[in-house]
Amino acid sequence: MTKPAPLIDQFARRITYLRLSVTDRCDLRCAYCMPERQTFLPKAEVLSLEELYKLSLGFIDRGITKLRLTGGEPLVRRDVIDLIQALGRKVGDGLDELTLTTNGTRLAEFADPIAAAGVKRINVSLDTLDRATFAKLARRDSLPQVLEGLEAAKAAGLKVKLNTVALKGVNEDTIPDLIAWAHGQGFELTLIEVMPLGEVEEDRFDHYLPLSAVREKLEARWTLNASGHRTGGPARYFDVAETGGRLGLITPLTNNFCDGCNRIRVTTTGQLYACLGGNERVDLREALRSADPEAALEEALDLAMKIKPARHNFAIDRRGSAPALARHMSMTGG
Ligand code: SAM
Ligand code: SF4
Repeated sequence: MTKPAPLIDQFARRITYLRLSVTDRCDLRCAYCMPERQTFLPKAEVLSLEELYKLSLGFIDRGITKLRLTGGEPLVRRDVIDLIQALGRKVGDGLDELTLTTNGTRLAEFADPIAAAGVKRINVSLDTLDRATFAKLARRDSLPQVLEGLEAAKAAGLKVKLNTVALKGVNEDTIPDLIAWAHGQGFELTLIEVMPLGEVEEDRFDHYLPLSAVREKLEARWTLNASGHRTGGPARYFDVAETGGRLGLITPLTNNFCDGCNRIRVTTTGQLYACLGGNERVDLREALRSADPEAALEEALDLAMKIKPARHNFAIDRRGSAPALARHMSMTGG
């Protein structure tokens, strides 16, 4: 049998990185991500663990070497550890890296089995170290669990990168201390600008904080040296001389990173989104549930390569206007 063709889009970009959402559910309700009363998907619409595994194998066959599980909160899905273990067996056999993005609330329980499954690095989202601010922002008083989870991750030998959404008037003033703490723990930290994805109660524009402003403040305190570190994504990296740690800045509303884009996203219902900032999609669930899933999946992935846009066209919305995209980040998984 001939080897399946690698995933190369119409702009000659080779797609090697898949972000796969394993659930739209979450135990937190971060104000910028979802409304308090979020309606979650009925089970029949969500891919089963077997389907998620089969799909992942199909992608690995087509040259995906890095797989990130995300959500929603991946660790709230029942039996997700079975999927992590099954995919962990593909590390070194098709996959270079299996990783996940989590809010950390369940890491105390899962850090050891995750590490044992072959995961080396994880991303943990943490916007503040202040318990009251956390409780207000995430609408759940879960900071103690997250900190316990981070301890467990460290003890399990997992490399941790923190993701922090920069929010004007919310965590703006405490970002430098959060970075200092993270670097002291041996964690990398990446700051992210808030993106206009899905309806939430508040107007995100009120809290939009350009990272250029954050960087200016940080540079008044520390020396930021541009780092050669690259991941093929939108982050630019800096080494902070004084802390000895690495800082990433993600400014998703600029699109000057799109030329090197190597990634695609699949939602928990099996919708492949060719770009986080666009609506171009292919239904992989239909392919998986068809009479000849293998052939249908091949065809669907070929189609995805034809529709991946050259670049996204996000723009931070004007105050009070509708979000740039209707779907929440918890659908496409960030
Ligand atoms: N629940 C997991 C977590 O929080 O890490 C994984 C899914 S979450 C959707 C992935 C990342 O997206 C998190 O770091 C979160 O802060 C970020 N995020 C969610 N909504 C966002 C938005 N509107 N703008 C920017 N980042 C967002
Ligand atoms: Fe949940 Fe992550 Fe969204 Fe927060 S950002 S509500 S933790 S999915």
